[in-house]
Amino acid sequence: MNTFLVTGASGYIASWIVRYLLEEGHEVHGTVRDPGRKEKVGHLLEMKAAYPGNLSLFKADLLDKESFREAMTGCDIVIHTASPFIINKIKDPYSQLVQPAVQGTTHVLGLVNEFPGITRVVLTSSVAAIHGDAADVELTGDGSFTEEHWNTSSSLKYNPYQYSKRLAEEAAWEIARAQDHWNLVVINPGLVLGPPLSGASDSASLGIMNDLVGGKYRMGVPDLYFGIVDVRDVARAHIAAALQPAAQGRHICVGDVVPLLEVANLLREDFPSLPLPRKVLPRWLVSAAGPFMGISARFVRRNLGIPYRLDHSKSMQSLGMSYLPMRTTLKDHVVAMKR
Ligand code: NAP
Repeated sequence: MNTFLVTGASGYIASWIVRYLLEEGHEVHGTVRDPGRKEKVGHLLEMKAAYPGNLSLFKADLLDKESFREAMTGCDIVIHTASPFIINKIKDPYSQLVQPAVQGTTHVLGLVNEFPGITRVVLTSSVAAIHGDAADVELTGDGSFTEEHWNTSSSLKYNPYQYSKRLAEEAAWEIARAQDHWNLVVINPGLVLGPPLSGASDSASLGIMNDLVGGKYRMGVPDLYFGIVDVRDVARAHIAAALQPAAQGRHICVGDVVPLLEVANLLREDFPSLPLPRKVLPRWLVSAAGPFMGISARFVRRNLGIPYRLDHSKSMQSLGMSYLPMRTTLKDHVVAMKR
């Protein structure tokens, strides 16, 4: 059994990682920004009570390297998930996204260098570090993104969340390459959906699902494609990446790439009374309404109606991943929301 540091332990994805690690008998040191915020950590406190002595919570902030030292002490594996996932209401993309993502990564991984007992770091990156716009697929030659690709189309001003993930993952590889006592394994999930263990996460995943089932798109959805993956599969991928000695490099972690309308259609099969969209919005309407919804003309041009594939074969071969059916993911997500 190992002792894991899980950063951002109260987060949507991290909460499942912590839960599975505890179920497997591991010890977990979880960092949270504010251990006093009951709504954020209540579910972790329940896990702590269910697995006495195996979960400890520590206060840490990505902008403060030293705040991770106590939590890292005694650990042999680090899973670094903490990073803001916000896509709306971004006023200052540097301080809200890039700074915590990049400094957080350099702080946590830099500190790992001071702990000889740590042999592996698993980083939660994203497919956002692999591609920005759907139109980036033109650069692949065969319509399919792989772990070889890097997002070159995002910037501080355009798709800043995607930019923050690319910069953070690059920083992680740079730190990993400069030493030889631990190795880095990266998980690159698509849009993560599936049951949240807490309703208090700020993850954009939960916002997207709230909007969809809450009727925001009842008149129609933009013709956008998403690579979707179940949160429980993402958690399992992190644990496999942490424990399989041969694991190395990046891993696209995605079940299927589907248009948003297909997500709505699948949801309707289980929840026929929800105010879900039944059609795709015409391009002219998305272009006209875009400025009011924070969607630029460039985004419309480079994303609407452009299908692409994400090759998840490496995750299946080297991490032994299989992916839950999307209908199960969506159904379980809505059931958890109702609860
Ligand atoms: P989440 O629930 O919002 O988790 C983000 C975590 O980061 C939270 O625990 C949050 O702490 C923590 N955090 C943010 N800023 C921090 C700071 N300054 N100091 C310390 N902690 C901070 O979102 P999530 O979806 O689980 O995302 C987790 C990771 O997965 C992120 O790296 C994200 O980029 C990545 N990812 C997510 C998706 C997705 O679709 N959800 C897809 C690909 C990759 P608080 O609880 O205190 O806010």
